[in-house]
Amino acid sequence: KNTILLDKRPVGTPQVSDFKFTQEEVQEPKSGEILLETKYVSVDPYLRGRMNDAKSYIPPFELQKPIVSGIVAEVIESKNNNFSKGDYVSGMLEWKRKQVSTGEDLHKVDPAQAPLSAYLGILGMTGLTAYLGLTEIGKPKEGETLLVSGAAGAVGSVVGQIGKIMGLRVVGIAGSDEKIRMLKSEFGFDEGINYKTTGNMKEAIAKACPNGVDVYFDNVGGDISDAVLFNINKFARMVICGAISVYNETSLPKGLSVQPFLIKNSALMQGFIIGNFTEKFPEAMQQLAGWLKAGKLNYEETIVEGFENIPQAFIDLFSGKNKGKMVVKV
Ligand code: NDP
Repeated sequence: KNTILLDKRPVGTPQVSDFKFTQEEVQEPKSGEILLETKYVSVDPYLRGRMNDAKSYIPPFELQKPIVSGIVAEVIESKNNNFSKGDYVSGMLEWKRKQVSTGEDLHKVDPAQAPLSAYLGILGMTGLTAYLGLTEIGKPKEGETLLVSGAAGAVGSVVGQIGKIMGLRVVGIAGSDEKIRMLKSEFGFDEGINYKTTGNMKEAIAKACPNGVDVYFDNVGGDISDAVLFNINKFARMVICGAISVYNETSLPKGLSVQPFLIKNSALMQGFIIGNFTEKFPEAMQQLAGWLKAGKLNYEETIVEGFENIPQAFIDLFSGKNKGKMVVKV
Protein backbone atom coordinates (compact mmCIF):
# COMPACT_ATOMS: atom_id res chain seq x y z
CA LYS A 1 0.00 0.00 0.00
CA ASN A 2 1.35 3.45 -0.90
CA THR A 3 -1.16 5.99 0.45
CA ILE A 4 -2.71 6.76 3.86
CA LEU A 5 -6.21 8.30 3.94
CA LEU A 6 -8.34 9.60 6.77
CA ASP A 7 -11.06 6.96 6.92
CA LYS A 8 -13.05 8.10 9.97
CA ARG A 9 -12.98 11.22 12.12
CA PRO A 10 -11.39 10.10 15.42
CA VAL A 11 -13.53 10.29 18.54
CA GLY A 12 -11.29 10.85 21.56
CA THR A 13 -7.81 9.38 21.17
CA PRO A 14 -7.15 8.51 17.50
CA GLN A 15 -6.99 4.81 16.56
CA VAL A 16 -5.07 3.15 13.73
CA SER A 17 -8.49 2.10 12.37
CA ASP A 18 -9.31 5.78 11.76
CA PHE A 19 -6.81 5.60 8.89
CA LYS A 20 -6.97 3.56 5.68
CA PHE A 21 -4.04 2.24 3.63
CA THR A 22 -4.72 2.16 -0.10
CA GLN A 23 -2.83 1.51 -3.31
CA GLU A 24 -3.07 4.44 -5.70
CA GLU A 25 -1.63 4.71 -9.16
CA VAL A 26 1.44 6.95 -9.24
CA GLN A 27 0.97 9.61 -11.93
CA GLU A 28 3.65 10.41 -14.51
CA PRO A 29 4.98 13.96 -14.01
CA LYS A 30 3.79 16.31 -16.75
CA SER A 31 5.74 19.31 -18.05
CA GLY A 32 6.49 21.62 -15.09
CA GLU A 33 6.06 18.82 -12.56
CA ILE A 34 8.35 16.66 -10.44
CA LEU A 35 8.01 13.12 -9.09
CA LEU A 36 8.86 12.84 -5.40
CA GLU A 37 9.77 9.91 -3.20
CA THR A 38 8.98 10.40 0.49
CA LYS A 39 11.95 10.09 2.87
CA TYR A 40 10.83 11.52 6.23
CA VAL A 41 7.32 12.31 7.48
CA SER A 42 6.58 14.68 10.35
CA VAL A 43 3.78 13.65 12.70
CA ASP A 44 2.47 16.57 14.76
CA PRO A 45 -0.09 17.06 17.51
CA TYR A 46 -1.88 19.82 15.54
CA LEU A 47 -2.90 17.26 12.89
CA ARG A 48 -5.41 15.98 15.45
CA GLY A 49 -7.39 19.23 15.16
CA ARG A 50 -7.55 18.89 11.37
CA MET A 51 -9.13 15.46 11.79
CA ASN A 52 -12.21 17.02 13.39
CA ASP A 53 -14.90 18.48 11.21
CA ALA A 54 -14.59 21.89 12.83
CA LYS A 55 -13.69 25.35 11.67
CA SER A 56 -10.21 26.38 12.80
CA TYR A 57 -7.21 28.37 11.59
CA ILE A 58 -6.59 25.61 9.05
CA PRO A 59 -9.33 23.65 7.22
CA PRO A 60 -10.20 20.09 8.31
CA PHE A 61 -8.89 17.07 6.40
CA GLU A 62 -11.46 15.53 4.10
CA LEU A 63 -12.50 11.94 4.65
CA GLN A 64 -11.07 9.43 2.15
CA LYS A 65 -8.36 11.91 1.17
CA PRO A 66 -4.66 11.57 2.07
CA ILE A 67 -3.41 13.22 5.26
CA VAL A 68 -1.01 16.09 4.61
CA SER A 69 1.94 16.98 6.87
CA GLY A 70 5.51 18.21 6.68
CA ILE A 71 7.57 15.84 4.52
CA VAL A 72 11.12 15.66 3.19
CA ALA A 73 11.24 13.97 -0.21
CA GLU A 74 13.73 13.23 -2.97
CA VAL A 75 13.14 14.40 -6.52
CA ILE A 76 13.33 11.18 -8.55
CA GLU A 77 12.20 12.65 -11.86
CA SER A 78 11.98 16.29 -12.94
CA LYS A 79 10.18 18.08 -15.73
CA ASN A 80 10.55 21.39 -13.89
CA ASN A 81 13.60 23.60 -14.52
CA ASN A 82 13.82 24.62 -10.86
CA PHE A 83 14.44 21.07 -9.65
CA SER A 84 16.88 18.34 -10.63
CA LYS A 85 16.77 14.61 -10.06
CA GLY A 86 18.49 13.96 -6.72
CA ASP A 87 17.40 17.23 -5.09
CA TYR A 88 15.78 17.00 -1.66
CA VAL A 89 12.76 19.16 -0.86
CA SER A 90 10.65 19.90 2.18
CA GLY A 91 7.05 21.05 2.34
CA MET A 92 3.46 20.12 3.07
CA LEU A 93 2.88 16.88 1.15
CA GLU A 94 0.57 13.90 1.22
CA TRP A 95 1.11 10.68 3.16
CA LYS A 96 2.14 8.80 0.00
CA ARG A 97 5.30 6.90 -0.86
CA LYS A 98 5.48 8.73 -4.19
CA GLN A 99 3.66 11.79 -5.48
CA VAL A 100 3.71 14.33 -8.25
CA SER A 101 4.06 18.03 -7.44
CA THR A 102 4.41 21.32 -9.27
CA GLY A 103 7.12 22.23 -6.76
CA GLU A 104 5.11 25.23 -5.58
CA ASP A 105 5.68 25.93 -1.86
CA LEU A 106 8.45 23.31 -1.66
CA HIS A 107 11.89 24.35 -0.42
CA LYS A 108 15.14 22.66 -1.36
CA VAL A 109 17.00 21.27 1.64
CA ASP A 110 20.68 20.40 1.80
CA PRO A 111 21.64 17.01 3.30
CA ALA A 112 25.23 18.27 3.59
CA GLN A 113 24.16 21.04 6.01
CA ALA A 114 22.07 18.90 8.37
CA PRO A 115 20.49 15.44 8.46
CA LEU A 116 17.30 15.43 6.36
CA SER A 117 15.05 14.79 9.36
CA ALA A 118 16.27 18.03 11.00
CA TYR A 119 14.38 20.02 8.36
CA LEU A 120 11.16 18.73 9.93
CA GLY A 121 12.30 19.66 13.43
CA ILE A 122 14.96 22.05 14.62
CA LEU A 123 15.39 23.57 11.13
CA GLY A 124 11.67 23.41 10.32
CA MET A 125 8.36 24.29 11.91
CA THR A 126 9.47 23.09 15.35
CA GLY A 127 12.47 25.39 15.60
CA LEU A 128 10.57 28.34 14.15
CA THR A 129 7.69 27.84 16.58
CA ALA A 130 10.04 27.67 19.55
CA TYR A 131 12.04 30.73 18.55
CA LEU A 132 9.24 32.98 17.33
CA GLY A 133 6.73 31.99 20.03
CA LEU A 134 9.27 32.66 22.75
CA THR A 135 10.73 35.89 21.37
CA GLU A 136 7.63 37.50 19.84
CA ILE A 137 5.16 36.78 22.65
CA GLY A 138 7.28 35.59 25.60
CA LYS A 139 9.70 38.54 25.27
CA PRO A 140 12.24 36.89 27.59
CA LYS A 141 14.66 39.01 29.58
CA GLU A 142 17.92 37.90 31.14
CA GLY A 143 17.54 36.77 34.75
CA GLU A 144 13.84 35.97 34.43
CA THR A 145 12.27 32.53 34.99
CA LEU A 146 10.93 30.61 31.99
CA LEU A 147 8.63 27.65 32.58
CA VAL A 148 7.96 25.29 29.67
CA SER A 149 5.28 22.59 29.51
CA GLY A 150 5.69 19.68 27.08
CA ALA A 151 9.34 20.45 27.73
CA ALA A 152 10.84 17.19 26.46
CA GLY A 153 8.98 17.35 23.15
CA ALA A 154 10.06 18.85 19.86
CA VAL A 155 9.08 22.47 20.48
CA GLY A 156 9.55 22.49 24.26
CA SER A 157 13.11 21.19 24.24
CA VAL A 158 14.14 23.97 21.85
CA VAL A 159 12.27 26.67 23.80
CA GLY A 160 14.15 25.75 26.97
CA GLN A 161 17.54 25.89 25.27
CA ILE A 162 16.82 29.27 23.71
CA GLY A 163 15.80 30.45 27.18
CA LYS A 164 19.18 29.36 28.51
CA ILE A 165 21.02 31.05 25.62
CA MET A 166 19.13 34.25 26.54
CA GLY A 167 20.16 34.00 30.18
CA LEU A 168 16.97 32.86 31.91
CA ARG A 169 16.39 30.31 34.64
CA VAL A 170 14.58 27.52 32.80
CA VAL A 171 12.25 24.93 34.31
CA GLY A 172 10.56 22.18 32.30
CA ILE A 173 7.48 20.03 32.88
CA ALA A 174 7.41 16.57 31.26
CA GLY A 175 5.94 13.10 31.72
CA SER A 176 8.77 10.81 32.91
CA ASP A 177 11.86 10.84 35.13
CA GLU A 178 13.95 9.86 32.13
CA LYS A 179 12.69 12.92 30.25
CA ILE A 180 13.45 15.16 33.24
CA ARG A 181 17.01 13.80 33.33
CA MET A 182 17.33 14.50 29.60
CA LEU A 183 16.08 18.09 30.06
CA LYS A 184 18.87 18.78 32.50
CA SER A 185 21.73 16.78 30.98
CA GLU A 186 21.16 17.35 27.24
CA PHE A 187 19.31 20.64 27.11
CA GLY A 188 20.67 22.52 30.12
CA PHE A 189 17.35 23.07 31.95
CA ASP A 190 17.87 24.17 35.55
CA GLU A 191 15.01 22.14 36.98
CA GLY A 192 12.33 19.69 35.88
CA ILE A 193 8.96 18.48 37.15
CA ASN A 194 7.46 15.10 36.26
CA TYR A 195 3.75 15.93 36.12
CA LYS A 196 2.76 12.25 36.17
CA THR A 197 4.32 11.55 39.58
CA THR A 198 3.90 14.95 41.22
CA GLY A 199 0.82 15.19 43.41
CA ASN A 200 0.56 18.92 43.88
CA MET A 201 1.72 20.72 40.75
CA LYS A 202 0.99 24.15 42.18
CA GLU A 203 3.46 23.54 45.03
CA ALA A 204 6.00 21.79 42.83
CA ILE A 205 6.09 24.76 40.46
CA ALA A 206 6.46 27.17 43.39
CA LYS A 207 9.42 25.12 44.62
CA ALA A 208 11.10 24.84 41.22
CA CYS A 209 10.51 28.53 40.46
CA PRO A 210 11.34 30.29 43.76
CA ASN A 211 11.20 33.70 42.07
CA GLY A 212 7.89 32.95 40.32
CA VAL A 213 7.22 32.51 36.60
CA ASP A 214 7.87 35.42 34.23
CA VAL A 215 7.39 33.57 30.95
CA TYR A 216 5.25 30.47 30.53
CA PHE A 217 5.56 28.64 27.21
CA ASP A 218 2.54 26.37 27.11
CA ASN A 219 2.37 23.31 24.91
CA VAL A 220 -0.19 21.30 26.88
CA GLY A 221 -2.96 23.40 28.52
CA GLY A 222 -5.38 21.78 30.99
CA ASP A 223 -4.60 21.12 34.66
CA ILE A 224 -0.87 21.75 34.27
CA SER A 225 -1.47 25.27 32.99
CA ASP A 226 -4.04 25.91 35.71
CA ALA A 227 -1.35 25.12 38.29
CA VAL A 228 1.03 27.52 36.57
CA LEU A 229 -1.42 30.42 36.95
CA PHE A 230 -0.96 30.34 40.74
CA ASN A 231 2.75 31.01 40.24
CA ILE A 232 2.91 33.79 37.67
CA ASN A 233 4.64 37.08 38.40
CA LYS A 234 3.52 40.61 37.76
CA PHE A 235 3.67 41.31 34.01
CA ALA A 236 4.13 37.60 33.20
CA ARG A 237 3.78 36.60 29.54
CA MET A 238 2.09 33.32 28.65
CA VAL A 239 2.66 31.93 25.17
CA ILE A 240 -0.27 29.66 24.34
CA CYS A 241 1.35 27.50 21.68
CA GLY A 242 -0.43 24.17 22.15
CA ALA A 243 -2.96 22.39 24.31
CA ILE A 244 -2.29 18.71 23.62
CA SER A 245 -3.90 17.63 26.91
CA VAL A 246 -7.31 18.66 25.57
CA TYR A 247 -7.01 17.82 21.85
CA ASN A 248 -8.80 14.49 22.35
CA GLU A 249 -11.59 15.84 24.58
CA THR A 250 -15.05 15.36 23.17
CA SER A 251 -16.60 18.25 25.10
CA LEU A 252 -15.25 21.64 26.12
CA PRO A 253 -12.98 21.05 29.13
CA LYS A 254 -13.60 23.03 32.31
CA GLY A 255 -10.68 24.75 33.97
CA LEU A 256 -9.85 27.68 36.17
CA SER A 257 -11.24 31.05 35.33
CA VAL A 258 -8.05 32.73 34.14
CA GLN A 259 -9.22 36.34 34.28
CA PRO A 260 -8.59 37.00 38.01
CA PHE A 261 -5.03 35.69 37.63
CA LEU A 262 -4.39 37.91 34.64
CA ILE A 263 -5.87 40.98 36.31
CA LYS A 264 -4.07 40.49 39.60
CA ASN A 265 -0.71 40.15 37.85
CA SER A 266 -1.25 42.47 34.87
CA ALA A 267 -0.26 39.35 32.94
CA LEU A 268 -0.50 38.69 29.22
CA MET A 269 -1.80 35.46 27.70
CA GLN A 270 -1.64 35.24 23.92
CA GLY A 271 -2.33 32.47 21.45
CA PHE A 272 0.42 31.73 18.95
CA ILE A 273 0.13 30.35 15.42
CA ILE A 274 3.37 29.95 13.52
CA GLY A 275 1.62 30.70 10.21
CA ASN A 276 1.13 34.32 11.29
CA PHE A 277 4.87 34.96 11.40
CA THR A 278 6.04 33.92 7.92
CA GLU A 279 7.79 37.25 7.28
CA LYS A 280 10.10 36.48 10.22
CA PHE A 281 11.08 32.99 9.02
CA PRO A 282 14.34 33.92 7.23
CA GLU A 283 15.70 35.83 10.23
CA ALA A 284 14.59 33.10 12.67
CA MET A 285 16.05 30.34 10.51
CA GLN A 286 19.38 32.14 10.31
CA GLN A 287 19.47 32.48 14.09
CA LEU A 288 18.59 28.80 14.66
CA ALA A 289 21.09 27.53 12.08
CA GLY A 290 23.78 29.76 13.63
CA TRP A 291 23.19 28.42 17.14
CA LEU A 292 23.09 24.87 15.82
CA LYS A 293 26.38 25.31 13.98
CA ALA A 294 27.97 26.93 17.03
CA GLY A 295 26.96 23.92 19.14
CA LYS A 296 24.64 26.02 21.31
CA LEU A 297 21.50 24.05 20.40
CA ASN A 298 21.02 20.33 20.77
CA TYR A 299 18.10 18.42 19.41
CA GLU A 300 16.60 15.03 20.04
CA GLU A 301 14.59 12.96 17.58
CA THR A 302 12.48 9.85 17.89
CA ILE A 303 12.71 8.20 14.48
CA VAL A 304 10.15 5.50 13.76
CA GLU A 305 10.90 3.32 10.73
CA GLY A 306 8.37 2.40 8.05
CA PHE A 307 5.60 4.05 6.05
CA GLU A 308 3.08 1.66 7.59
CA ASN A 309 3.90 3.01 11.06
CA ILE A 310 2.99 6.65 10.36
CA PRO A 311 -0.49 6.53 11.99
CA GLN A 312 0.81 4.77 15.11
CA ALA A 313 3.68 7.25 15.45
CA PHE A 314 1.12 10.06 15.32
CA ILE A 315 -1.06 8.37 17.95
CA ASP A 316 1.97 7.79 20.18
CA LEU A 317 2.44 11.57 20.56
CA PHE A 318 -0.57 11.56 22.87
CA SER A 319 1.03 9.10 25.27
CA GLY A 320 4.43 10.79 25.16
CA LYS A 321 6.35 7.96 23.45
CA ASN A 322 8.60 10.54 21.81
CA LYS A 323 11.60 12.45 23.08
CA GLY A 324 12.15 15.53 20.96
CA LYS A 325 10.76 15.50 17.43
CA MET A 326 8.76 12.47 16.31
CA VAL A 327 9.46 11.63 12.65
CA VAL A 328 8.90 8.59 10.49
CA LYS A 329 11.64 7.38 8.15
CA VAL A 330 10.12 5.80 5.09
P1 NDP B 1 5.78 17.10 21.14
O1 NDP B 1 7.06 16.63 20.57
O2 NDP B 1 5.84 17.98 22.35
O3 NDP B 1 4.89 15.81 21.42
C1 NDP B 1 3.79 15.85 22.22
C2 NDP B 1 4.17 15.67 23.70
O4 NDP B 1 3.08 16.13 24.49
C3 NDP B 1 4.36 14.23 24.13
O5 NDP B 1 5.68 13.79 23.94
C4 NDP B 1 3.94 14.21 25.59
O6 NDP B 1 5.09 14.32 26.43
C5 NDP B 1 3.10 15.48 25.75
N1 NDP B 1 1.72 15.15 26.12
C6 NDP B 1 0.87 14.31 25.49
N2 NDP B 1 -0.31 14.26 26.13
C7 NDP B 1 -0.19 15.08 27.21
C8 NDP B 1 -1.08 15.45 28.27
N3 NDP B 1 -2.31 14.97 28.35
N4 NDP B 1 -0.62 16.32 29.20
C9 NDP B 1 0.62 16.81 29.15
N5 NDP B 1 1.51 16.51 28.16
C10 NDP B 1 1.09 15.65 27.21
O7 NDP B 1 4.97 17.88 20.02
P2 NDP B 1 5.39 19.25 19.32
O8 NDP B 1 6.59 19.78 19.96
O9 NDP B 1 5.34 19.06 17.88
O10 NDP B 1 4.17 20.19 19.73
C11 NDP B 1 4.05 20.65 21.06
C12 NDP B 1 2.80 21.51 21.18
O11 NDP B 1 2.95 22.68 20.37
C13 NDP B 1 1.54 20.81 20.69
O12 NDP B 1 0.47 21.14 21.55
C14 NDP B 1 1.33 21.38 19.32
O13 NDP B 1 0.00 21.37 18.93
C15 NDP B 1 1.87 22.79 19.49
N6 NDP B 1 2.35 23.42 18.27
C16 NDP B 1 1.80 24.61 17.95
C17 NDP B 1 2.23 25.31 16.86
C18 NDP B 1 1.60 26.63 16.61
O14 NDP B 1 1.89 27.28 15.60
N7 NDP B 1 0.74 27.08 17.48
C19 NDP B 1 3.25 24.79 15.96
C20 NDP B 1 3.82 23.52 16.42
C21 NDP B 1 3.36 22.88 17.52
P3 NDP B 1 5.07 13.89 28.00
O15 NDP B 1 5.74 12.57 28.08
O16 NDP B 1 5.82 14.99 28.66
O17 NDP B 1 3.63 13.81 28.41
